[in-house]
Amino acid sequence: MTPADAAELLTLAAAFDRRTVGEADARAWAAALNSMPLDDDARAAVARHYAETADWLTPAHVRKHRTKIRAERVETANVYYDGVPGETGAESIARRRALNRAIADGRVAPQTATQGVGLAPSNAPLALTGGPPPDLAKRLSGIGRDVPDDDEPDTPKRTSPLSVVCPQCASRIGQHCKRAGRPHLRPHPARTRVANGEPAVDPNAEQTAKQRRAAAAAYLERLAPEERAQLAAFEPPTRQEQHA
Ligand SMILES: [Zn+2]
Repeated sequence: MTPADAAELLTLAAAFDRRTVGEADARAWAAALNSMPLDDDARAAVARHYAETADWLTPAHVRKHRTKIRAERVETANVYYDGVPGETGAESIARRRALNRAIADGRVAPQTATQGVGLAPSNAPLALTGGPPPDLAKRLSGIGRDVPDDDEPDTPKRTSPLSVVCPQCASRIGQHCKRAGRPHLRPHPARTRVANGEPAVDPNAEQTAKQRRAAAAAYLERLAPEERAQLAAFEPPTRQEQHA
């Protein structure tokens, strides 16, 4: 700020603390605040200082409060830098700083939280924020939609086995399965499968049996002719022989 700017700021301060403002004061303040422009935030910094304390205002107070005012804008803006695909680290830092400067200056209006996460059209210029990255945008587009029930494929809705006729023991609907001619609380697995819309024969079990038969055939194939002849001549022992 120029000495003329500083004189204006000091005149504002005088409204609070009745100081006298001379040319030397204006030059001293301009030197202390030469990197700071005279803007509304600098003026607000003076007002804020005297809203908080009766301490004599110095250039350091103005700098501190102006920095705080700008930082508050960034904190409450709900505007985020989302990155531009393929940018370098240096580019990212430069763009982030440009965005923060624009927010701190008040050039980018604060957004609602909904805008902040990209669910409503943004106030912020895309040139500054880069827009949400593609993967985030994709995830955000799912928010608010029905989430598919992950459990469904693994645990289909169970239907009572008693709601179907048992394919194994032919027990009627509502009746328990029979084992050895007596009602049994546990239904036959085939009945449970049918009740759940699956085939009565367990495809896995059938597959396993098939594999077992193939393995047995391959084993027989490998036997020497005399071993095969031995096996063909083998008769399982009768019950009487077993118990003898
Ligand atoms: Zn049954």
